Amino acid sequence: MNSKSLSLAELAALVRDLNASGTSVVAPVPTRSLCGADYRPITELNQATLNGALPRRSLKELFLPASEVLLRYRLKKNDVELLPVPTTFTPQVILGARPCDAAGVAVLDRVMGWDYRDELWFGRRAATTIVSLACPGFDGVCFCHAVGLNPDASLGSDVLLVPRGADAYWAMPVTDKGEALLARGTFADLVEPAEVTAFRKAAEEKVAKNLASLPSGFHTFMAQSFDHPEFKAIASRCHGCGACAAVCPTCHCFDIVDEPEGMEGGARRRNWDFCATCKFTVHASGHNPRATQNERFRQRVMHKFSIYPQRFDAVLCTGCGRCVRACPAGMDLPEVLGHLYAAQAAGGVS
Ligand code: SF4
Ligand code: SF4
Repeated sequence: MNSKSLSLAELAALVRDLNASGTSVVAPVPTRSLCGADYRPITELNQATLNGALPRRSLKELFLPASEVLLRYRLKKNDVELLPVPTTFTPQVILGARPCDAAGVAVLDRVMGWDYRDELWFGRRAATTIVSLACPGFDGVCFCHAVGLNPDASLGSDVLLVPRGADAYWAMPVTDKGEALLARGTFADLVEPAEVTAFRKAAEEKVAKNLASLPSGFHTFMAQSFDHPEFKAIASRCHGCGACAAVCPTCHCFDIVDEPEGMEGGARRRNWDFCATCKFTVHASGHNPRATQNERFRQRVMHKFSIYPQRFDAVLCTGCGRCVRACPAGMDLPEVLGHLYAAQAAGGVS
């Protein structure tokens, strides 16, 4: 399918058409405090803030909710009955996803379909069409370019929109789902215009200045740098609050608990959990293999830039910068990475 031209009016009509046909539409919506935006359902396009701030939280929770029921159980006299939850979902379109968020979903597909196929994750993935909106380069801590993406990356997107001024978009279908979405309207064909090419180039150049690309062999260097002083130098500041992981599009650890619902049964839930917290790895014996905050902070960085790349051939970070903005202790991941790059360049493995 050819790329298309979409006016704001045509996009508004598409939102109404989707809602009328039972497909929910989610888009960045200004928060009530007017400080940023969150991905929320909309019924009209004017409820969304497409060209505004990077939403405070990522798309992750639309596929992996912060808390969800995995199954219910009923206690019988000599037995337990297990009641599965549905793994099919109402169709939804995410409109105006940031490319770093769409990429985060694609990166997580690898672990969610790895040794066990997570049917809740893939049920939501099957029901969802992601329409990303190319970013102009949000601020000084974004570093998508450094991790192999860009402000116009199409990884994880079904359609990529690029703004053409204030009231029009160039739409590039990326997948069959994206083609099917664009086929709902009679949008004019449009070969990529010069203004779109210029927008994409300027955004890439802006973000590339924030942090150099990951050097080749970086994940191997990291694997050999377990005791690098950089971790000790910075990790003592970390409060272990887990805010970085909560807002991160790619952090995906969870805990599973059984919660009683009356005397006759209950629900098995999974709840997000965070490796920076002090109890994350505590054994039943009381022993904690990651006893210090240094070890916990190091684990988060190692998982993203060494362990995940070795196993899945993908960095577990899309460079969105949310962890930097959310951290109450001023921890700065791109700054840490910059110091580690310098150590690698100097040939230093401690
Ligand atoms: S680690 Fe930080 S910069 Fe990387 S994806 Fe997570 S929140 Fe974004
Ligand atoms: S790095 Fe910052 S946000 Fe993350 S756990 Fe430590 S203090 Fe909290």
